[in-house]
Amino acid sequence: MKPLLVFDMDGVLVDVTESYRETISRTVEHFTGTRIPNETIQEFKNQGGWNDDWKLSHHIVTGVGVDASFDEVKAHFQNLFHGNGSDGLILREKWVARPGVLEKLNRQFRFALFTGRPKEEAALTLNRFAPEIVFDPILGMYEVQNHKPAPDGLLTMQAAFYVGDTIDDARCAKAANVPFIGIAAPSNPLYVDLVFLFQETGAYAIVDDINYLDEVFAS
Ligand SMILES: [Mg+2]
Repeated sequence: MKPLLVFDMDGVLVDVTESYRETISRTVEHFTGTRIPNETIQEFKNQGGWNDDWKLSHHIVTGVGVDASFDEVKAHFQNLFHGNGSDGLILREKWVARPGVLEKLNRQFRFALFTGRPKEEAALTLNRFAPEIVFDPILGMYEVQNHKPAPDGLLTMQAAFYVGDTIDDARCAKAANVPFIGIAAPSNPLYVDLVFLFQETGAYAIVDDINYLDEVFAS
């Protein structure tokens, strides 16, 4: 049986700069009246522990003294993200893999997905961009008891590698004793910090995006 390559979704398979990250910015702006730069969001992501974008949005909003409940913030976030089904920011996400890249990797590996998204939101995106590619299993936020950086999700499968884009992903892989491949996009506002954090966590490899994964496995 082929080894199992496990992917995180956001920032790995999908560029979410204009979708999830923009939704955080707009949600914060709605409640506080102030827009935060992408760099501020990345600072939280680099701190670790902020994999859940609803919790992060609520944390930023209440952190500047605005009194809003988690449910209010989450509802506003979801409304922006899904819209009426045809105008949500989810539609701004971009599939990262160039044509043929995943198909080629798939000859060497089976694929699985371990994401902090709800499974249904992950399925929407996979069906939209890569309906023919099989990811099995797919673990989302409600399929694990403890969220990343906890290793729970990875421990339920025979992962050969975990491909992720945040320090929580790297810590999760380390705790599960699975080699980690870090995605650090040079366009990331804190690129150098992220590369350093990945190195510090003992990453097996670090690449700009998943189109370079074949170079990691070439030797
Ligand atoms: Mg991610």
